[in-house]
Amino acid sequence: MRLILLGPPGAGKGTQAQRLVEKYGIVQLSTGDMLRAAVAAGTPVGRRAKDIMARGELVPDEVVVQIVADRIEQPDARRGFILDGFPRTVPQAEALDRMLAEKGLTLDAVIELKVDEDILAERVERRVAEMTARGEAVRADDNPAALRKRLAAYRAQTAPLVAYYAARGMLSSVDGMASIPEVAAAIERVLAETAAARQDRARKMPTGG
Ligand code: AMP
Repeated sequence: MRLILLGPPGAGKGTQAQRLVEKYGIVQLSTGDMLRAAVAAGTPVGRRAKDIMARGELVPDEVVVQIVADRIEQPDARRGFILDGFPRTVPQAEALDRMLAEKGLTLDAVIELKVDEDILAERVERRVAEMTARGEAVRADDNPAALRKRLAAYRAQTAPLVAYYAARGMLSSVDGMASIPEVAAAIERVLAETAAARQDRARKMPTGG
């Protein structure tokens, strides 16, 4: 199974991706996590990305596209993957289309988590306050100024992907403001529908014999 989870920062993509990882034994490919690891390790990519990420802006397309291209080649991604935080721009989506086509792979679904941005900002602020209270390290971009930038980047650069995938008949939207189990159940329904549609198409395909 190969999926994209689409939605602004704090929409719950990571939480839902984790559930799907456990349920289906596929890997979560979070470009944010990969970039944070590169920053922590001080690699050339990390050095390039560090300040951009702290400001809440997007890392250049060619950097993330290369990271994803390398990652989906790894053996653990063979069974499938959930892209969390990628693609984030139309050129990234086009690069992903090319990458998958070259490998003869297809996407099963693109699932948008629809959220109310005002409530989202409160959610992220609450998460930061809770983490700080627990003495946990807070992300460099989990502060009000960077969060505003991240939401603006989402609106300007990532939201157009909703239309991109809708035009290709691949988009399903679920209410991301519902509780975690309710969102999970809605995602399961989308996956069941896409699996049924896929089987239907396979049945209708001429066998060629
Ligand atoms: P995330 O953990 O998905 O919220 O990502 C954190 C930060 O990493 C973003 O604000 C960007 O600076 C960077 N980033 C993650 N994924 C991408 C992407 N697909 N394209 C560009 N920048 C990204």
